[in-house]
Amino acid sequence: MTEETKRLKEMVSPLLSWFAGNARKLPWRDDPTAYHVWVSEIMLQQTRVEAVKPFYARFIGTLPDVKALAGCPEDQLLKLWEGLGYYNRVRNMQKAAQIAVESYDGKMPTDYGTLLSLPGIGSYTAGAVASIAGGQAVPAVDGNVLRVISRICGSEADIAKQSVKRGMEETLLEVIPADAPGSFNQALMELGATVCLPNGAPECSRCPVLHLCMAGKNGSWDHIPVKAAKKPRRVEQRTVLVIRDSEHAAVRRRPKKGLLAGLYELPNTEGHLTQEQALKETASFGFSPIRIRPLEDAKHIFSHVEWQMKGYLVLVEEQEEAGGGILFVEPERTERDYPIPAAFAAYAKYLKIRLGQEKYKDKG
Ligand code: SF4
Repeated sequence: MTEETKRLKEMVSPLLSWFAGNARKLPWRDDPTAYHVWVSEIMLQQTRVEAVKPFYARFIGTLPDVKALAGCPEDQLLKLWEGLGYYNRVRNMQKAAQIAVESYDGKMPTDYGTLLSLPGIGSYTAGAVASIAGGQAVPAVDGNVLRVISRICGSEADIAKQSVKRGMEETLLEVIPADAPGSFNQALMELGATVCLPNGAPECSRCPVLHLCMAGKNGSWDHIPVKAAKKPRRVEQRTVLVIRDSEHAAVRRRPKKGLLAGLYELPNTEGHLTQEQALKETASFGFSPIRIRPLEDAKHIFSHVEWQMKGYLVLVEEQEEAGGGILFVEPERTERDYPIPAAFAAYAKYLKIRLGQEKYKDKG
């Protein structure tokens, strides 16, 4: 047994005792079925716990089980996800749910290998579901766990490397207690989320494994974990057009593939257009512009690309229809029926609609 494994095995008992007394009360922990754990874990990959709670409640309230998710119409599904971003994740969830309906008796599997074979499920999510809902002794290594274990072991290996993650999964396989794998994995994640914090100093003085932790003893937490810098994001300049008459606003559907696939958007185009160019673009959809006014600049950051947006509000003559794939609809319908991603949030106020989480604020 390596030094590392020995050190980590010693950590199991104090960590589990600490978790028993310090676990946060979270909605998905009340009834940790495979479906509940899965939905929460996918949501938590992109958003903080507090922000996930209302999304989770609404999602589970509307789609209470695998069968409901498998049969949900796409637009409704995307609406439920609106504001969380990474829409391919929810599309993959639906594909996985459809496989579960066809092949696993309508139930979410709890076996690690079976979970890994489903779309959108990697080793972390498979490990979380299999250990928490299935009681299988498999690791669930996410960013929190990579940080905590690197610090405890004083490891300066680059956690951005897949090989480092795999090595940690193998080590943890020897460490996970067979009688409490779900609690062990959750305890590690919880320690990372509430004590062994990523930015600024970790709270070592209240850490249950300080006596075993290399970084806690020698202060190397200030540079551990080591993570190689990612490639800088590509910057894209775009112009967004808020095209309105007194009753309608223009939206259109994005292509079926690529960024924000299949969602709706405000008409927009590459580059920063002048007022004159923006008027021409508006006319190209078959509209007759009356007035144009520049709006504030906005920025939206995706994982690999950053949009730097210029906006125009263009008032046009009343008409029923438009060309170029544009839907000219009442703004309330946009809020209700057409999922528009948060990237357009800065300009949505000119349609008098709210996007994502915003629109539920005064509806309880
Ligand atoms: S002692 Fe400090 S650095 Fe080590 S695991 Fe605990 S909080 Fe993290």
